[in-house]
Amino acid sequence: MSIEEKTRGKVRVVNNRYKFEGNFHYASPNSPMINESGKLVGVTNPRDMTYVHTYGGEAVFFESLSQGKLVASRCDNDDCRSKGSIFMPFRIHCPDCLMRATQVDITDIAKRTGKIYSFMICERSGAFNTLPKPIKFINIEFEGVCTILMGYLSVGTPVMGMRVVPIFNTKKPTYTILDLSWVPEGTKKKDLPKNFTFG
Ligand SMILES: [Zn+2]
Repeated sequence: MSIEEKTRGKVRVVNNRYKFEGNFHYASPNSPMINESGKLVGVTNPRDMTYVHTYGGEAVFFESLSQGKLVASRCDNDDCRSKGSIFMPFRIHCPDCLMRATQVDITDIAKRTGKIYSFMICERSGAFNTLPKPIKFINIEFEGVCTILMGYLSVGTPVMGMRVVPIFNTKKPTYTILDLSWVPEGTKKKDLPKNFTFG
């Protein structure tokens, strides 16, 4: 472990308060930018900062992925016209009545009914991408769920209407959305990406 990794900022939570420990900012030496005539035109400024991303009421969703579960939310408010609607991606509150939604496990529904609603294949990616390219982004629909989930296909080529099943990074979770991926129904365990399981 490098000195930087040892001192890299971490956050503990004690009595619902964040305790920051270590360094959250690292500055590296800059370097001059010189044009073809040998004249200075500027400098590069390397900066490294640790972003603190709090999940709040959505934490349960990310923790569930690490346990091979897909948790959605449902409105159970008798006075809401959307009562009974199941939302995936997970949301803390019903978007229609703003009441706190109920958490529902839809792992089995996703395994039985997930299918590709639409897709796009991206040959280029943004900064900090860690997924292999091309990235096969898929939109997945589920029976009884009123929203469409965005995800990425790890095996094969997407086809409209293709049945897909969720896979989860349960062996070395990152606690990010990348812990959830999809493969065509019938994919063999041995063909899953490293650290991923069927849950
Ligand atoms: Zn509602």
